[in-house]
Amino acid sequence: MPLVPEEQRRFAADIVRRLRVAGFEAYWAGGCVRDQLLGRQPKDYDVATNATPEQIRGLFGHRRTLAIGAAFGVISVRGPKPAGMVEVTTFRRDAAYSDGRHPDSVSFSTAAEDASRRDFTVNGLFYDPVENRVIDFVGGQADLAAKVLRAIGNARDRFAEDKLRMLRAVRFAATLDFAIDADARQAIADMAHEIHVVSPERIAVEMQRMLTDANRAVGVRLLVETSLAAEILPEIVPPEQHATALFGRVLDALARLGEQCGFPLSLAALLSPYANPEQAAAVCQRWRLSNQQRDRVCWLLEHRTALENVPDMRWSQVQPVLVADGIDDLLRLMEATSPATAGAVAHCRRLLNQPTETLDPPPLLTGDDLLAHGIPAGPAYKSFLQRVREAQLDGQVATKQESLALIDTWLSETK
Ligand code: ATP
Ligand code: MG
Repeated sequence: MPLVPEEQRRFAADIVRRLRVAGFEAYWAGGCVRDQLLGRQPKDYDVATNATPEQIRGLFGHRRTLAIGAAFGVISVRGPKPAGMVEVTTFRRDAAYSDGRHPDSVSFSTAAEDASRRDFTVNGLFYDPVENRVIDFVGGQADLAAKVLRAIGNARDRFAEDKLRMLRAVRFAATLDFAIDADARQAIADMAHEIHVVSPERIAVEMQRMLTDANRAVGVRLLVETSLAAEILPEIVPPEQHATALFGRVLDALARLGEQCGFPLSLAALLSPYANPEQAAAVCQRWRLSNQQRDRVCWLLEHRTALENVPDMRWSQVQPVLVADGIDDLLRLMEATSPATAGAVAHCRRLLNQPTETLDPPPLLTGDDLLAHGIPAGPAYKSFLQRVREAQLDGQVATKQESLALIDTWLSETK
């Protein structure tokens, strides 16, 4: 069942109210406050409270709560189906970060300390949904108004604690369309080479969120400008003479992809001028993407020019591409990366509108037919079936009989 935003919100407010009634301090915290103040629909709600994980579970009941993150003070509370889950987190302070990514331990603390352990001022706000009041310990409201992404405290120290924050800075700046403040920008430029302590999977999550957002071109430009690209995606920063003009065209293409664009498509558009399918596969492998995502990226790059001359091509060459799973992505890739192919894309869309019997007729022959025809089973089957399929699509044969006759002529030629 899909989540209903009003129900999510009502349930999240209800949680705060119930904690309050039980005598605890409780607020909405982090991204949901930021998004609400920006007039965006929060994806989900987080609640911060001085209740301990046990007290939270005691209040909402074991059946309605999940304690997977309890060691960090996080309890998930399950609401009615359309409301989803709300994470309720005990105010905490983080101990030292010796691995450059995770705190060595956490201890329970106050609202003010909880705000200051967060990454950026605009992510450090609390909101009281009972009294409709923002609680701002970190200057987040001013930065929201100025559209600035600023680290809470000293940027260098905060990025040294958790290097992922460098990449989050770029992702938030892009998706919120904010500027990164000068200190944070300089800190990233100086520390970008330390990003490698972050796991490839986590880097991929950030890249996915950046590239699937409509503002992805801004994100990619920031990645290059901050030197993070040279570390995590060196493929797109080649030492070429025409690199700047080429890069500008890539950013235009990324912008043209628009909204509702999947990760494989946006990644293929980014890599298209820089990487062949093998190199793209290596990027996907590096980020531990699923085989399905990797295969889609590679297929798109392999076929990016396959349909450019579609009106002049034989149907048997066009049809297998048109009936492939990735065809919608491929047409969008062509439109975005080479607007000159608009005519070819329109032509393909007309072809795709044909009824299935025309677009993808059932094959005339199977392996069993070859066997029954007395052809010994073997490696030649595959190529026979494929050549017959091409002849069928190109209108050279229309029945099983004609197909077998055609194979007989091939066999007699090779005798
Ligand atoms: P979104 O979910 O839209 O990406 P968000 O702000 O909710 O944005 P989350 O990753 O869900 O981001 O984290 C929730 C909150 O937890 C953040 O707003 C921030 O206050 C805090 N937070 C998350 N990750 C970090 C981090 N690496 N360092 C410090 N604080 C963090
Ligand atoms: Mg969130």
